[in-house]
Amino acid sequence: MTHLFDLTGRKAVVTGANTGLGRGIAVALAEAGAEIVAVGRSDMGETKEAVAATGARFRTVAADLSSLEPVPRIVAEASEGGRVDILVNNAGTIRRGAAVDFTEADWDAVLDVNLKGVFFLSQAFARPMLADGAGGKIIHIASMMSFQGGIRIASYTASKSGLAGLTRLMANEWSGHGINVNAIAPGYFATNNTAPLRADPERNGQILARIPAGRWGEPRDLGGAAVFLASPAADYVHGILLPVDGGWLAR
Ligand code: NAP
Repeated sequence: MTHLFDLTGRKAVVTGANTGLGRGIAVALAEAGAEIVAVGRSDMGETKEAVAATGARFRTVAADLSSLEPVPRIVAEASEGGRVDILVNNAGTIRRGAAVDFTEADWDAVLDVNLKGVFFLSQAFARPMLADGAGGKIIHIASMMSFQGGIRIASYTASKSGLAGLTRLMANEWSGHGINVNAIAPGYFATNNTAPLRADPERNGQILARIPAGRWGEPRDLGGAAVFLASPAADYVHGILLPVDGGWLAR
């Protein structure tokens, strides 16, 4: 680890850090030296253990991100003892169904967490970063659906395509103030999010056949991209979507 990627002394908030990609990102940031504040609605025990093994400090803020109600409290609790330097908007949800039958409830459930929540949480953490002038790093977790249409996931595609636009908008407004806003676009990773795809032999086979790397991604595969975008190595990187996809988009 060179100093370019050193996060010692930095505090990182990771939403949805209890499982999947969020846990992988939290552990990678901790290995690079960051203190972790894990935000979410489920037990963070396994993430706590994994972060503790790195020697990094770890705290939780309990919050359901399907409404904006907890946002001020999340910022206040996360900022106790020192400013937040890094925000990773990882928490996200998905609903599956044919476009012709898609319900308003399945639309709102996804847009509320994946887009509205991400925007207002970013705004809330950006305000103190802008006020103290010390900058920061905001990293969204986008998707292949930020580039492609997908199928049977209308609200998810809308949210992740919207997030691509917001990544660029936030970068345009805040990059001059030392805040780097970027996104990681994971390909197909083995987490709860993709369990139905992996359980369907036909879809599983189709997806695997299209991934040049020949395997599903594992949460640890995202760690390097997260550390890079959170670190001084990315100080001049603004408004990008960094695919970590086993070559999916190259196909
Ligand atoms: P996951 O295992 O389902 O994790 C999703 C995380 O978001 C969980 O921690 C979940 O908490 C949290 N979350 C969802 N709704 C929430 C709410 N209302 N309040 C608080 N937390 C909430 O799936 P994942 O694959 O790790 O997903 C992480 C991110 O990566 C998501 O934004 C997803 O869209 C994105 N992504 C995943 C893939 C993939 O292939 N897996 C590909 C592209 C993008 P609970 O455990 O409490 O539900």
